[in-house]
Amino acid sequence: MWRLASRPDVAVDVASAGLACCSLEVEAAGQRGLLVASETVPQAAAVTVLVVAGTVTTAVEPALVRLFDEHAQHGPVIIVSFGACATSGGPYWDAPTVRPGIEALFPGQEIASYVPGCPPRPEALVVELERLVDSRIPA
Ligand code: SF4
Repeated sequence: MWRLASRPDVAVDVASAGLACCSLEVEAAGQRGLLVASETVPQAAAVTVLVVAGTVTTAVEPALVRLFDEHAQHGPVIIVSFGACATSGGPYWDAPTVRPGIEALFPGQEIASYVPGCPPRPEALVVELERLVDSRIPA
């Protein structure tokens, strides 16, 4: 779990569902200090941002849905699709075991943001998270 280094006053936890190469970009944001480990911030999270980063296969789908459900028990969850695979299946869109995007996994839930790229850069994630925090989360 991460929090935005640029918004330490905002209680938003970032849960990365790292599934493939895109998840390394989320980790890189942490390595660069753009995200900080949430354990270092004592304030409880008001909102969880679930960042789906990578290729979603039918094998990992149940675990991804379970992860969303676990967070949703504790409060609102904002879903971010990070990268081409999470958004459309990416280069594997026609593989029989690859989901062509994550909408169908979360019926009734809005995908708040689609970050383009294969992979997107860590900075793109941080900019998008800052935008969501500023537009969606009450101060
Ligand atoms: S979008 Fe590209 S970089 Fe990201 S998981 Fe898919 S293949 Fe890997």
